[in-house]
Amino acid sequence: MSSEIFFTLSSGEQIPVVVTNRRGAHNVTLRPKIEPSRELHISKPWLTSTSFVLKFAESKRKWIEQIFNKAPHKEKVVPETDLEFLGRCVKLIHNPDMRSNQYMNDEKTVLCIGGGADMFERRVRDFIKSELLSEIKKIIKTTPREYWPKHITLRDTTSRWGSCSSTGNMSFSWRLALAPYEVMRYVVMHELAHTKHMDHSPEFWATVSKLYGFGIEKAKRWLSKNGQGLHKYF
Ligand SMILES: [Zn+2]
Repeated sequence: MSSEIFFTLSSGEQIPVVVTNRRGAHNVTLRPKIEPSRELHISKPWLTSTSFVLKFAESKRKWIEQIFNKAPHKEKVVPETDLEFLGRCVKLIHNPDMRSNQYMNDEKTVLCIGGGADMFERRVRDFIKSELLSEIKKIIKTTPREYWPKHITLRDTTSRWGSCSSTGNMSFSWRLALAPYEVMRYVVMHELAHTKHMDHSPEFWATVSKLYGFGIEKAKRWLSKNGQGLHKYF
């Protein structure tokens, strides 16, 4: 076994390659692994050279990239991390003696998280979620009352950023807090427009643009291009 070889993804991430010789094997098998660590496992017959195996892996690059991209690398949120949420870049600091979390300045660019070190990441996430919820409510209050939902829930969805039921319940992915503010605001207005039109008809889009203003296409493009990246943390 050797992990001094790396398979470099187009994102720049270096995936360690673990090559094993398998007795009686007739061909090379590739197994991209996500858990517990991200590795590309390759087993090969004794006589097959490593360079041949790497060339073989290269020929399957598209498939390998797809698997690793579907399960993005999670970056750990630790004290001193600069995290962007709700349109601000916030430095996270930790004070185990504090029971609650609080901003340390008026600009809200330094956030002190209280509680034990093992709870740090979870407390950051919960704090961001509650900030997002109040921000969404603030945005909704800028629109005519006829668009207001009955109830709002935050979820951790992978395929939908927001949804609106015919009974007026709305849900949003809490990860929108990690997107640019205008992108998050677009998703909110999109769902509000569904309270009038349950489809994506021209009338629906006219309502979205009435609520959101200019730049819908830009926000949509951002989401389709960068949405997966919102799963980088937590
Ligand atoms: Zn929609």
